[in-house]
Amino acid sequence: MASSSPTKLNGHAPPLHDIRIHIVGAGMGGMGSALSLARQGFTNITVWEQALYLDEVGAGINIPPNCGRILSRWGVMGICKAEGVAIERANVIDFDCETDEIISSAGYSQHMIHDYGFPFITVHRAALQKSLVRGALDTGRVQLITDQVITEYDFDRTRLRVRDNDTDEMEWVDADVIIAADGIKSQARQVMYAKIGKVDEVEDSGQAAYRIMVKKSAVQDDPELLKFFSSKQSFRWIGENRHVMGYPINAGELFNISTSQPDGHFVAAESWTALGNKSDMLATFSDFPKRVQRLLAAVPEHQVLEWRLREHKPLPVWVTGNIALLGDSCHPTLPHLAQGAAQALEDSVAIGIVLSRIKKKEHIHAALMVYQKLRKPRTDWAVSMAAANSLALHQDRSAREAALKAAREGLVGDAGEAVVDKLASRELHDKLFKYDIALEAEQHFSQMLTEELMGAVSIS
Ligand SMILES: Cc1cc2nc3c(=O)[nH]c(=O)nc-3n(C[C@H](O)[C@H](O)[C@H](O)COP(=O)(O)OP(=O)(O)OC[C@H]3O[C@@H](n4cnc5c(N)ncnc54)[C@H](O)[C@@H]3O)c2cc1C
Repeated sequence: MASSSPTKLNGHAPPLHDIRIHIVGAGMGGMGSALSLARQGFTNITVWEQALYLDEVGAGINIPPNCGRILSRWGVMGICKAEGVAIERANVIDFDCETDEIISSAGYSQHMIHDYGFPFITVHRAALQKSLVRGALDTGRVQLITDQVITEYDFDRTRLRVRDNDTDEMEWVDADVIIAADGIKSQARQVMYAKIGKVDEVEDSGQAAYRIMVKKSAVQDDPELLKFFSSKQSFRWIGENRHVMGYPINAGELFNISTSQPDGHFVAAESWTALGNKSDMLATFSDFPKRVQRLLAAVPEHQVLEWRLREHKPLPVWVTGNIALLGDSCHPTLPHLAQGAAQALEDSVAIGIVLSRIKKKEHIHAALMVYQKLRKPRTDWAVSMAAANSLALHQDRSAREAALKAAREGLVGDAGEAVVDKLASRELHDKLFKYDIALEAEQHFSQMLTEELMGAVSIS
């Protein structure tokens, strides 16, 4: 349970160090927030998680430099460095290029360290989650309670209702602040929007995604495929309405693949665990280069996951009373920018800073509004860039050729090639990876809080 010591890990404890902070979800945003708040000196932090065990669910996830910067400051980068792969090159390949040739290749190894101070790492999601859980629990200020589902929120009294999965017992728990980091299908978002009469505008993108992991041991006899595991490179094969993205994780023992294709099966929306059909997957990519087909064929029958990609419009409200949404719950995104974990951790840094700067409980709501103001412009932009990248990656052949020509005249990779995949563009890298949320929050907090409090006074 939380330590009673008010000493801040990085300095002095905040004035409200013992407020009751309840966090829903032990994913990246939930555990990131717990760690961030504990490091700011808060001592009474509880994380509720519906899963019984935080085990190897999920697959590959990206730790770009803006995420690495945060993990390093928190002192929890070790596991991801050891278990991940620092990507040295990001390749884009036109799928119907008969020679299966790389059409653009961006060097990452020197560029990332030199320009942003951190590598671009790919890792199993479990490794990142483990880093955050250990970091948070090691502070002695965070209590993680698994196998508990939050079923209701009381926005007026800042309470949440917890159901114990084992006993089915229900209990209302009082809090001073609640952070709902309950993921892309957030129930907190649904009830908040129902309460305030707003709409979460969401559209089916018409796309679905397969997610698989291939074991190195499954391709031992195929030297061409083995290179994918040792290469420290990412590969994106693009074509009309479809693409296949792959990169090594687990220190090169696994090759993680995610795809995007028209949704022909009306699969479960935004589910990380729904099973897909291997034969359908192979048929969908049967015109892709042979080495891609062999990679896809190397996955066991029942380890193909498939889910429907939905496009959410930026959410207008993240905060009601003393309850705030955080991570995927307030900026659900298409996966094409690989910023899900990074943006959730930037949110976590921001929430830690804003709550640690206020001196009165009555200012919690205003501090949460400052968190929303600080974060929303950046996450709105990242969500829109992920959607734009989807269009850039899925054009027909003539449009791809025109885009390549235009790109060659403007944005080019380090070897002078065109950059079609926005994820490999320097301009985007600068905007995503140079950004330091801690600096931004420290610089603007006082002004924003004053504005928020003055606004509240003038309205009331
Ligand atoms: C099982 C799973 C597998 C994933 N696999 C990948 C992957 O392979 N690659 C990738 O890039 N991203 C993956 N993600 C998503 C990725 O973690 C997020 O996009 C990102 O890191 C932002 O994190 P988040 O904390 O906002 O959401 P998430 O990491 O999704 O965490 C949300 C957490 O809230 C919990 N939760 C939800 N509702 C309740 C409730 N009512 N009561 C209690 N707990 C609740 C969930 O169980 C989950 O642990 C996965 C997410 C999940 C849940």
